[in-house]
Amino acid sequence: MASQDDANELDRAPSQGVGPVYMSSTDKPTATVSTQVSHQNITILPQTPQLIALLTMIRDKNTNRADFIFHSNRIIRLLVEEGLNHLPVREHIVTTPVGKTYNGVRFEGKICGVSIMRAGEAMEQALRECCRSVRIGKILIQRDEETSQPRLFYDKLPEDIADRWVLLLDPMLATGGSALMAVDVLRSKGVPEERICFLNLIASPEGAANFAKKFPKLRVVTAFVDKGLDEKNYIVPGLGDFGDRFYTL
Ligand code: URA
Repeated sequence: MASQDDANELDRAPSQGVGPVYMSSTDKPTATVSTQVSHQNITILPQTPQLIALLTMIRDKNTNRADFIFHSNRIIRLLVEEGLNHLPVREHIVTTPVGKTYNGVRFEGKICGVSIMRAGEAMEQALRECCRSVRIGKILIQRDEETSQPRLFYDKLPEDIADRWVLLLDPMLATGGSALMAVDVLRSKGVPEERICFLNLIASPEGAANFAKKFPKLRVVTAFVDKGLDEKNYIVPGLGDFGDRFYTL
């Protein structure tokens, strides 16, 4: 049974009827949907019935690891497809097998994925499925025990990263400490902030605001902005530790 605290939390969370658009709202179940934020640099995936069902699955503490991986991968695929929509394209005209022309477009730049270890590595496969033989770099940032500040331990990035569009991968945007440091690393290698697109499954309003303030030209693509952070900086309601649930639990 829901406690009074749970009930208050639900009161504050935005909710809407979820189901096919043409179905009457009285026939749709009500679900919590993403908090909307006003930052210009963030794109929140459309709150479709499929996305809400996938998120419900991975948020459930009783979901086993195999199901967590399967349903997370489906969300990550949506994020990668949307992230690619933010890269510029050029006119590209082709001739079809019936001899007619089609005015289309194609992407002409170079891409690179950069995962923030370890949880970000869970997003690499979906990127590979969309962009064959894509280069993937890695950054390891961990909290320094003494200072509690994020500290860079390791980075391995393609030599020509300054010439590439970067898809930065980390599933949970909590305070943003590690991801902001990862962006600093990329900028120190010559990647301008406007050529970085940060993909994550769940963001906190605090993390989204930190990114908008420090890197307003960098695009953040997320599936959901949650209510906030708890005292340990876990996202709430969140899904717990993404890396543990994907790799070890
Ligand atoms: N990282 C996680 O895995 N979960 C959170 O809630 C926050 C950061």
